[in-house]
Formats: sequence, C-alpha cells, structure tokens
Amino acid sequence: MSHGWGYGPTNGPDTWAEEFPVANDGPRQSPINIIPKEAKYDSSLKPLKLRYDPSNAKGILNNGHSFQVDYVDDTDSSTLTGGPISGKYRLKQFHFHWGSSDDRGSEHTVNGIKYPCELHLVHWNTKYPSFGEAANQPDGLAVVGVFLKIGAANPRLQKVLDALDGIKTKGKQTTFSNFDPKTLLPGSLDYWTYEGSLTTPPLLESVTWIVLKEPVSVSATQSHHHPKPLPGWSASLSPTILFSDSATAIGGGEVDDKPKKKQRQQRTV
Ligand SMILES: [Zn+2]
Repeated sequence: MSHGWGYGPTNGPDTWAEEFPVANDGPRQSPINIIPKEAKYDSSLKPLKLRYDPSNAKGILNNGHSFQVDYVDDTDSSTLTGGPISGKYRLKQFHFHWGSSDDRGSEHTVNGIKYPCELHLVHWNTKYPSFGEAANQPDGLAVVGVFLKIGAANPRLQKVLDALDGIKTKGKQTTFSNFDPKTLLPGSLDYWTYEGSLTTPPLLESVTWIVLKEPVSVSATQSHHHPKPLPGWSASLSPTILFSDSATAIGGGEVDDKPKKKQRQQRTV
C-alpha cells in the first residue's frame, strides 16, 4: 500500500503502521480523546494571538483526504504566537475533517463525543527555514483545532463551502483569495493543549495541538453541502482512527490517561 493510505477498509488507519510504524510505536500520536475534568490547569499558558492577512489566501485544494485552503507563507504576515508556544509560527493552510453523517467527523473527541467536523489551522515554527523542515521537529508545527456543531447557519463558512463545488474530485484546485480564517473561530479562544502528531501519514510527532473548547456552529444544510464521498475518494469508507494513550494535556482541559493499549474509533470521512 505504498503511498496508498486512505480511510478505506484496505488502506485505513489500522494499516498505516505498515508503512509508518510510528502509528503504533510513537509516544505522542494524535488524535486523542479529551477528558476535560482530567485536564490540568497551567497558569503559565498565554492567550492565543492570531494575526492573519486575508490577502495571503491563495487557493483551495481537494487533496483526496480533505479540503485545504493554502496561504502564502514566505513572510511573517499571517502568524500565531502566544498560547503554549514560544516564538512565531506562520499559517500554512487550513483544512476540514468532515464525517459522512453528523454523528461523526471530528478527529479529536471530548468525553468520547464526536463532532460532525473539525477545522485545523496549520502553522510552522519560523525558527526553521521551511514548513518541510519544521514538520520533522518536535516543536515544528502548531495546529489550532476547532470543532463544528450543528446549529445556526454560519455565514462566515459559506465562502469556503461555495468554493467546494469547484473542487469535487481529488487533485482539483481553484483560486481562493481574500479570506481571514480568524473569522471561523469561536468567541472564546480558551483551549486544551498537548504535544501530539500529524493525524495523517507520515504521522510526524511535531505538532503542538491547541484545541479550542468552544465549538462554532454550522447549519445542517451547510454541513450536508460539502461533497461526500467524492469521486476519487473511497466509496466504502469505514475508517479507524488511532488514539494516543500517552499524551499529556494542559491548558484548562485534558489528559487522556487511558489504557496502555491504543484505542480505536470508527470514523467515516
Ligand atoms: Zn487535519
């Protein structure tokens, strides 16, 4: 299954360890189940500071696994600072993990509960020369995760949803400009944080996760608007997601104290 990872029955997360052993062996694999009452408060954690330049948005891509909006990242014009990280991290892209129905979709869970969607804003540490080099470092990436729940329509999301119509199949991309992803965030930027990994191969253990506690809403109509499954995606999706057992979390929530054995969760994309 070289280079063939996905979420299908023959190439789903259960099989990723064949090519990426860190899936089973890594000490800080994501995602995890967040248990708020077990999280430890850390008074040294700072508020998040997100400063994004909407003109850095350059395009939206269907990469076969998610929908991704890419940003120009050759200067410090769109950055994340504060929170649990030190130094300055640049915005690289944001993308969504969506389920085939509203009872699943998010990668992280809270008390075992899945949200219909999870938004990830991906940043890289500017102490390294590039995203690619940062992605191999323990403090290389910082990803802000935002849960989406079914509720009122979210007008700020509509521009992204409208763009999806133009990229229904894997590999398609189109221009996407003048968009500030900060508009997608909830009113409160309180968060849980832990040291984790990429949630897709190569599963590098380089991500400081910052998962916002407050979800944002999306209407059922909007939630069902995104194309799924897509031509080019597996049609018979019954994926499994790995949970880490050893992540420590701080920042007002978290710590999956869980079993030494990895837990697995069904998820359909
Ligand atoms: Zn993601």
